Amino acid sequence: MPASYAEICLLIDGEWISAKDRVSSPVVNPATGEEIGRVPHATQADLQRALESSERGFKVWRNTSAFERAKILRKASALLRERGESIAQKLTMEQGKPLFEARYELNSSADYFEWFAEEGRRVYGRLVPSRNIAVQQMVKKEPIGPVAAFAPWNFPAITPSRKIGAALAAGCSIIIKPGEECPATAVEIARALQDAGLPNGVLNILFGEPSEISEFLIQSPVIRKVSFTGSVPVGRHLSAMAGRALKPITLELGGHAPVIVCKDADLDKTAQILAAGKFRGTGQICLSPTRFLVERCVYEEFLNLFVRYTQEMKIGNGLDPETKVGPLSNTRRIKAIGEMVADAKAKGARIMTGGERVPGPGLFWQPTILADVAPDAMVMHEEPFGPIAVVLPFDTLDEAIEEANRLPYGLAAYGFTESTRSAIRLGNELEAGMIGINHTQMIVCELPFGGIKDSGQGSEGGAEGIQSYLTTKFVSQLC
Ligand code: NAD
Repeated sequence: MPASYAEICLLIDGEWISAKDRVSSPVVNPATGEEIGRVPHATQADLQRALESSERGFKVWRNTSAFERAKILRKASALLRERGESIAQKLTMEQGKPLFEARYELNSSADYFEWFAEEGRRVYGRLVPSRNIAVQQMVKKEPIGPVAAFAPWNFPAITPSRKIGAALAAGCSIIIKPGEECPATAVEIARALQDAGLPNGVLNILFGEPSEISEFLIQSPVIRKVSFTGSVPVGRHLSAMAGRALKPITLELGGHAPVIVCKDADLDKTAQILAAGKFRGTGQICLSPTRFLVERCVYEEFLNLFVRYTQEMKIGNGLDPETKVGPLSNTRRIKAIGEMVADAKAKGARIMTGGERVPGPGLFWQPTILADVAPDAMVMHEEPFGPIAVVLPFDTLDEAIEEANRLPYGLAAYGFTESTRSAIRLGNELEAGMIGINHTQMIVCELPFGGIKDSGQGSEGGAEGIQSYLTTKFVSQLC
């Protein structure tokens, strides 16, 4: 029995504010085209209240011990696991991804809160031997201050959790603006934190016009740190704004992940792993494999296997337990994918499978494999962020690595090989923040998540994840 969708509210200073007295926008189920809820848009007065609340929340939270903070984060994590099934259903209704992916995502979010709860207790300083024995020199780590964070619509649970978890563990307060298109999941996460005992003002949630909110928050002297996940152009824009206000920013932006398949890879297993990895989240994942470079002597064999495993994946409403590929999340992606496929086709690409929108009210696009794509095709340069795999042959590993590193993106890259020598070369020479050899599962709380080049700066998980929410202070004390 599917859960009903949630009432979406802003959370300001511990108070839930519904869409009743606010301008609002619709939440549409991308599998059916139906409106399932309304998102209230914050007014300027709401933004100001959220800032004042966050400033007060910071004072309370920074003076709460790391031990107590960890207890609340762990409790929130347990509540998320307890409520996981009902939240996962809401996530699928608003975002479209199949239920098995939504459950996995919720579980990962709970993992992040647990991980950061423990990391917060390990924020160690140090004592540095002094030149004068009467002086004690201490290096301390302190929370940076109230944070403004912006999360997108493709991972409505993991992206807010990574930001909120790290900020709270470090002792910061945080104002977060999740994606307006998939708001219920973040609201449920906030409810879990509130029910776990998080003091009012430590977490505020806003929705509305993204540019208005980011401008208002980033320029405010209350905010000391910015975090954004989304596209490269918006990342650049927010980075410039944060730079003008002299505020550090963590950016997790787009990607166009290369995959190098060597002739010595286990081709059948590789094709199976890559079909699942490519079409997970309907390809709307920043680290989704997109440019498949396959050694020429196994090119056609790999293509056939890849097409076969792709065609076995059932497309449909994510609430159907048989579904392996859900809809695209919004009409912008349908338009972009349509343009990229048409352009590649016009420039001579072979469409091995898919290539068309599925008729009906939902935003379904067939999982699409394009072979022999021309170098000047749009999809060879722009992030597809959708269910398109581009497959090309290569002759030498040098050539494959050069092609893999050609674009300004540097988020994820993958290699499939049974040769240790090739695996070491790929790990060393691919220009990306995250490299998967013989698999594609990269989102785990204990590992750093982030890109290089235009794909971003900073890391959001692992031991690194908490560091950007901390400042360093030294105290030199003459006794
Ligand atoms: P977009 O560039 O309009 O928006 C991307 C995200 O940024 C959205 O969540 C949006 O709400 C937010 N945003 C936009 N303008 C903003 C502003 N001025 N201030 C604060 N937030 C703002 O693109 P889109 O159509 O929503 O998404 C498609 C593109 O976004 C893709 O090409 C992909 O590169 C990128 N994207 C990346 C990720 C990721 O995980 N890195 C996630 C979602 C989207």
